[in-house]
Amino acid sequence: MTRTTSLERRSSHPHGRLERTLIDAETLEERVRELGAEITADYADRDLVLVCLLKGGIYFTADLSRAIDLPAAVEFVRARSYAGTESSGQVQLSWIDGLDIAGRDVLIVEDIVDTGLTLIEIWRALEEKGAASLAICALLYKEKRLAHPFPVRYIGFAIEDVFVVGYGLDYDERFRNLPHIAVFQPESARSPSR
Ligand code: 5GP
Repeated sequence: MTRTTSLERRSSHPHGRLERTLIDAETLEERVRELGAEITADYADRDLVLVCLLKGGIYFTADLSRAIDLPAAVEFVRARSYAGTESSGQVQLSWIDGLDIAGRDVLIVEDIVDTGLTLIEIWRALEEKGAASLAICALLYKEKRLAHPFPVRYIGFAIEDVFVVGYGLDYDERFRNLPHIAVFQPESARSPSR
């Protein structure tokens, strides 16, 4: 079975379908390697803790952490704000309480920065826990949507204002396991009269 056939089988959902590939797997891999090298140079001799924002950041963090040539710690926080393709405007954070980051250099690893609301919430929460330094690494960055400007130190790709899935990003908990980033077109956007 070829990759294309498999992808075609997975490409539809009752509420929409995959429209096109935005970033292929090879391009993702190369950029993650570059980010890893940059972070390795910047954090040499520091006590680096990667804080992965779940669920979307899971694949990016797994690959990025292995591209960083330092004994970094990896921690996980769950952040929820989206329902379907729309942000709810409310961010819920879980698993912050157990984090041991006081006096350590924390790099927040996020799948995508959209409005920036999630980052504001997580930044505040981690700052309160006494991190020595805080920075953000986002795989994707939707510049046009940014309602809450925030300094993102490492950006994988700046992308257009489209809803994307794959490499950790979901629509309704589907498509996280696509190896590339694809544009997802909700059914309502394709057929507004229906
Ligand atoms: P923000 O708080 O910056 O508006 O949104 C960040 C979170 O919203 C991301 O971590 C992600 O979970 C979700 N999100 C924003 N844009 C997209 C998108 O295009 N696709 C998917 N699957 N999730 C998105």
